Amino acid sequence: MNKKLIIFDMDGTIYLGKNLFDGVLETFDYLKKNHIDFVFFTNNSSHDLDFYYKKMTAFGVECDLKKNFYSSTEVTISYLLDKNIKKIFVLGNKSLRDKFAKYFEVVTTYDKNVPVEAVVAGFSTELVYQELRDASLYLQTLDVPFIATNGDYRCPIEDGLYIPDCGGMCEWLRLCTGKSATVMGKPNPEIVDFLAHQFGVKKEEVLVVGDRLYTDILVGINAKVDTLCVLSGESSMEDINNYPHKPTFILDSIKDLPDLLNK
Ligand SMILES: [Mg+2]
Repeated sequence: MNKKLIIFDMDGTIYLGKNLFDGVLETFDYLKKNHIDFVFFTNNSSHDLDFYYKKMTAFGVECDLKKNFYSSTEVTISYLLDKNIKKIFVLGNKSLRDKFAKYFEVVTTYDKNVPVEAVVAGFSTELVYQELRDASLYLQTLDVPFIATNGDYRCPIEDGLYIPDCGGMCEWLRLCTGKSATVMGKPNPEIVDFLAHQFGVKKEEVLVVGDRLYTDILVGINAKVDTLCVLSGESSMEDINNYPHKPTFILDSIKDLPDLLNK
């Protein structure tokens, strides 16, 4: 198989919580030896990229912060810049607000005399009710885009458990305001096109690897590239059988990825 760029999910694909999966380091050695580029793309907007870079290097994965890490936050920023939006209400963690504040005027409290041009929601692990309230007030009183960094309903943690994610927060707001968020992260296929262009590879040379069907696998299907679903995270074989879109490949974990790439 001639792949030159692999777009990896992280949670449930490379590790779960604090536990690195078996065979990950060997897989990245294989990629290095075979000159296959890789990107870690996460929908998780609750941490900045430096958090993931430090986590990966602590695990012993050789990587570069600028080259190998992208998240739904970067996709959202470039979308808003494209639309020439300057002032936004942000519902999200402090690290997310700080990141947006480098590019936009960020409003965090509803004021009817302070209009915004978009309401942006990220995965907030620091959520307070006031933020949901204020986001809903802006959505009800202004006809502005409602943007979500990601649409995941839940985020996997250790012991097979989950915590509520951005998609669920946006559902709460939709039920209150009647407005649905436009989702920026996976499965929006633009990120795959963007990365293929960035790395100078053809789409048939790209493989998307992840554990979640409606984000990781669907983004690859939407972008018309090959996909690999690993069974180390959220999805079981039964989930795959019940899902309308099938991944190109299925493996128990990325430990077996070098064998697949060798074929
Ligand atoms: Mg995952």
